[in-house]
Amino acid sequence: MIQHMRSLPLDGLGIVPNLDAKFMKDPDSLDYGLTLSQNVAADGPPLNKILENPQGSLFTFPYKDGKTRTVHLKRVLFRSHEVIGRGTIVIRVKCTCAGCGSHCNWAGKKLVLKLSFPGENRVSEQIFMDRCRELAQGEHAWVLNHLPSIYWSFDIPFRDGTPQQNFKKQYDKQYEMRIMRGSIQEELQSLTSLTTARECAQVFYDVVQCHHWVWKYPQILHRDISPGNIMVREKNGQKFGVSNDWDLAVWVNDIRDGPTSKFRTGTTPYMAHEQHFMEWKGPHRYRHDMESMFYVILLLTCLCSSLSEKLPAPPKTDYSYETWHKEGDDSLRGRKKTLLTADNWQPSTTTFFDGFSIWLSVLQLTLRSGINKLGDSRIAKASQKVIWQHPDPALLNFDEDTLGGEFSYEKIVLVMHVFEKEDLKTRM
Ligand SMILES: [Zn+2]
Repeated sequence: MIQHMRSLPLDGLGIVPNLDAKFMKDPDSLDYGLTLSQNVAADGPPLNKILENPQGSLFTFPYKDGKTRTVHLKRVLFRSHEVIGRGTIVIRVKCTCAGCGSHCNWAGKKLVLKLSFPGENRVSEQIFMDRCRELAQGEHAWVLNHLPSIYWSFDIPFRDGTPQQNFKKQYDKQYEMRIMRGSIQEELQSLTSLTTARECAQVFYDVVQCHHWVWKYPQILHRDISPGNIMVREKNGQKFGVSNDWDLAVWVNDIRDGPTSKFRTGTTPYMAHEQHFMEWKGPHRYRHDMESMFYVILLLTCLCSSLSEKLPAPPKTDYSYETWHKEGDDSLRGRKKTLLTADNWQPSTTTFFDGFSIWLSVLQLTLRSGINKLGDSRIAKASQKVIWQHPDPALLNFDEDTLGGEFSYEKIVLVMHVFEKEDLKTRM
């Protein structure tokens, strides 16, 4: 399914090969758009006047049988702010084929182009999703409502003479070559498209169910649970939570064999507390993703007065969530550890999200209990080596994925299958 492109004309910005934008032929038409400080201050995804040129930029990529396809770039829907990482951009696009009538396999579909710049050896989202599709048969077919639909995927290496190639020559093995990876996917809605707290609860519960299925059956771990990766699909008048963006995922077996990536993954405010330790070497486990889910729910429900509005002045509490987006590892590690080990902790959810208060309280209790047991199991394992004693076998065989069963999928479902005393839809 994945095509490599080496032979297409490479007339474009060095950073986005194959982009045909008007300003390249007529430099006076270049509109630089917002400055960096304006971008940071702007609400919503930053504008990109190069890609959103009113005349429309075209983007050509490799397709089947040595052919290419071209799409019209419409609007940048998402651009990551991270400095180091994949630099993902998601752009709404339209197929440019003549008339785009019934003969076109993308006719009538809402399309986005997703571009990212992963290390060249990273498994693509498409390969993970193909494996999910193979297993999502019969009683498992429900899960497809909760996964992205990828229509096409391609890789474009950087050509000679680009800064990448020069770095590689200079630093050799220390420099991980990146490629440009693109895909055409179905456009999904963000969480802001939801209107009620109950819809939001269903979307979170859907994502937890889907995430667990993918971990258990195709045995893939997501590793980047954050609000930007939780999307909504509307189908036949129903809304489904979608676990999106599997770019940082890994095969569970590869984790068991040892750490596969030099770098921890995730989005800083939502990372599990252990990941903020400089010495943390993994492995990334099921419970880390679920700890991230806890922070996603916590930050949304304590900092927002609805799904589309932030609180102008969040209440000052001992936990001060409004600064989490700006803080570094040391302070986040401390904040999270304090929260997770606190007695009688109560979330300061806003009125709109009040129904989530009980979810958060119970999830904190299960996490707290699991983290205590994790500490006990580590002491038991260490003490076994130095002194003669027989530690509790349960502590020696401690299941790290679920914190000894305290923070297991089953426990999380017990909390999340009900919202404001009414059952949510259980999908499986
Ligand atoms: Zn078409």
